[in-house]
Amino acid sequence: MENAAKGKIIVISAPSGTGKSTVIGRLMKVPGLNLGFSISATSRSPRAGEADGREYWFITDEEFRRRIEAGDFVEYEEVYAGTHYGTLKSEVERVCDSGRNLIMDIDVKGALSVKKLYGDRALSIFLAPPSLEVLEKRLRGRASDSEETIRARLGKAEYEIGFAPEFDVRVVNDSLDRAVEEMAGAIRGFIARR
Ligand code: ADP
Ligand code: 5GP
Repeated sequence: MENAAKGKIIVISAPSGTGKSTVIGRLMKVPGLNLGFSISATSRSPRAGEADGREYWFITDEEFRRRIEAGDFVEYEEVYAGTHYGTLKSEVERVCDSGRNLIMDIDVKGALSVKKLYGDRALSIFLAPPSLEVLEKRLRGRASDSEETIRARLGKAEYEIGFAPEFDVRVVNDSLDRAVEEMAGAIRGFIARR
């Protein structure tokens, strides 16, 4: 992992539907942060509007298992029963070699593994929904998941929120502008640190 020395690592976790993708999209455009997104691999199917190699590398479960065996992942988790997600070593290298800071959107367990692996080189941020009611509205508003998937994601949210104290920084995504500003401030301070 020597390439990671070239850049810092920002790991963001939140219950699904909180607004991570939206916030990360905005952070990527903030001048000076110089962020490059780590495109994870997943065995879930693409949602409408998602493209292979942009939001995720969409691979089959069989391919995912083959790549675990091949040692291709920095970390991976079965985030939902039967669905794997993982950070590829090749993504960490691609972004770090380009001289940017790496930003990852991964689940709470994966985030804590990355923090443990990279220590002071990584900043972990937990993005929290204002409440579970608001989270449910956002998941429904996104209109991309089935009722069963929404239930599973809501069921997991409380468990995930329980991990918030283990993160370096906690931000509530109430007003999007304010949350982005607060996160940009935390990231700016972190990347300026030697
Ligand atoms: P995640 O990546 O955490 O699963 P998304 O970024 O897809 O979540 O956001 C879920 C939904 O909530 C989207 O429809 C998005 O437009 C909306 N959303 C995100 N942030 C806010 C916010 N601060 N206020 C209101 N709606 C938001
Ligand atoms: P979604 O299916 O909504 O895109 O993502 C579901 C969950 O998987 C989110 O909590 C997201 O952060 C997590 N996730 C995405 N990529 C990775 C990854 O590479 N590793 C881990 N551990 N979790 C991931």
